[in-house]
Amino acid sequence: MKTFFGIKNNLRLLLPVLFIMSISAGCTSNNKSEKVSADIIIEHAQVLTMDSNHSQYDNSSVVIKQGRILDIGPTDSIALKYKASRTIDATGKLVMPGLVNTHTHIPMNLFRGYSDDQNLQDWLHKYIFPLEAKYVTARNVRLGAQLAMIEMLKSGTTIFNDMYFYEDEAAKVAKEIGMRAIVCESMISFPVANAKTYKESMAYTEKLIKKWKGDSIVTVGVAVHSPYTCTSELIKEAWALAHKYNVPFNIHVAETQWEIDSIQKTFHCTPVEYLNKLGVLSENVIAAHCVYLTDNDIAIMVEKKAGAAHNPECNMKLSSGVAPVPAMLKKGMKVGLGTDGAASNNNLDMFQAMYTAALLHKLTSKEPTVMNAQEVVDMATINGAKVLGMDKLIGSLEKGKSADLLIIDLKRPEIYPIYKNIYSSIVYSMNSSAVNTVIINGKIVMDNRKVLNIDENKVLEQVKLLADSIANDKSLAK
Ligand SMILES: [Zn+2]
Repeated sequence: MKTFFGIKNNLRLLLPVLFIMSISAGCTSNNKSEKVSADIIIEHAQVLTMDSNHSQYDNSSVVIKQGRILDIGPTDSIALKYKASRTIDATGKLVMPGLVNTHTHIPMNLFRGYSDDQNLQDWLHKYIFPLEAKYVTARNVRLGAQLAMIEMLKSGTTIFNDMYFYEDEAAKVAKEIGMRAIVCESMISFPVANAKTYKESMAYTEKLIKKWKGDSIVTVGVAVHSPYTCTSELIKEAWALAHKYNVPFNIHVAETQWEIDSIQKTFHCTPVEYLNKLGVLSENVIAAHCVYLTDNDIAIMVEKKAGAAHNPECNMKLSSGVAPVPAMLKKGMKVGLGTDGAASNNNLDMFQAMYTAALLHKLTSKEPTVMNAQEVVDMATINGAKVLGMDKLIGSLEKGKSADLLIIDLKRPEIYPIYKNIYSSIVYSMNSSAVNTVIINGKIVMDNRKVLNIDENKVLEQVKLLADSIANDKSLAK
C-alpha cells in the first residue's frame, strides 16, 4: 500500500511535470515548424554594419532572404528564430558591406600596362586614343568587363559606377555574373568608337535607361566626359536626360591644373562655377576627381548636394594633384572612393584605394590625424553609396537593405593581431586576398575565392590573345 500510495502520490506530483514537459516538447516542435525560412544564414561572424552608429557585433548572424537582410543578431537567438537552406560558418571571419567603387572605366583594363610613366596628354593622345579607336569594340568591351568583374569581386567590390562605350555589354556581363552596376555611356564632343556624334550616344543612353529600368542589380546612368571636352549644349542636354529619368549624372571635374587654366581662359571661372552656371549641379551629380576645388567650389557642391568620386591612385600616377578631401569632408560634402580605369591605376582594387587615400592625405597635410581609418571605410562603403544615390539600398548592413556583403578571413598573418579598431585592420593591414566570399543581392557570387558565374581561366586566355595582337600591331605607337 505504502508503495502503491507512494507511486500514486508520486504520479499525482509527476502529472503536472509531465504536462509541462509535453507542452514544452510541443513548443519545441512548434518553434521548429514556426521558424522563419530564409535563404542564407551567416553565423558566428564578427559583423561590421557601417550603420549610422557604426554598430559592430561579435559572434553574430546575418539572415538573408529574397535578396534582403532579414535580421542581424546574436547567433544563439537567431538560431532559435530562423532556418535556412544554406548556413555559412563565419567563425574567425568578418562580415561587412561590399565596397563601392564610385568611378571607373572597366574595359580600359585591356590596356593595363600598355603605356605607363607618361604625362597625361602624351598618354592620352599618343597611346590611349589610337588604341581605343582601333580596339574598342562591343566584343572587347564585353571581354574587358568580364575581366574587370572577376578582379573586382576578388577584391571585395560589390558595385561599380562605370563610364565607357558599348555600355550595354557591361550591363549584360554584370547581369550574368550577378554584380551590381551603374553603367553610363560616355558622351563627348567628338566621334568615338560607337558614335559619330554625341546625339547618337544620347539616344543609345536613353534606350539603355528604358531597357534596364527596374532591374534588380543594373542601373543605367548618364555620363559626359568633362567640361573641357564637351560643349555646354551637350552637358545641359545630358543633364536634362538624367533629370528626366532620375538617374546618376557623371562628369570628370577639375582633374588637372591644365583644365583649370583652360576653363578659366574660356569661361572666366572654375569648372565647378561653370557647371553651376549651366544649372547642372544637383543631388544626382557624381563629379570624378575634384582635385582643384576652391573653398567656393566646395560650398557650391555642398549647397547643391553634389558628390565627388575621389581617385587617389590615378591622381598620383598621372601627377594630377591631390584633392582637398579633408576640407570637403569637413564642409559636409559627399565623397566616395574610386579606382578610375585600370589603365591609369593600374588595378580596380578598393583595398589599395583605401590604403592610398589614408596615407596620401596624411602626407600632404602633414597631419597624421586626418582621414582616419573609419572615415576611409565610410568613404568606401556608406558614403560611396550616398554619392551614388543608393544609400537606402546598399552601403551598410541593416534590416531591409540589400544583402551586398563580404565575408573576410581575419585569421591571417598580415592582419593579426586585431585590437579594438577593426577599421585600422581593414585600411592599413588587410589586402584584398583576405576576401573569401562575396554576396550581392542575396546571392553568392564568389564562394571561397571562386567567382561562380564565369570561367576565369577562359577569360584570362582570351585577354592574353587580344593583348598579343595589340602588342604585335605595327600601326600603334610603341
Ligand atoms: Zn575617369
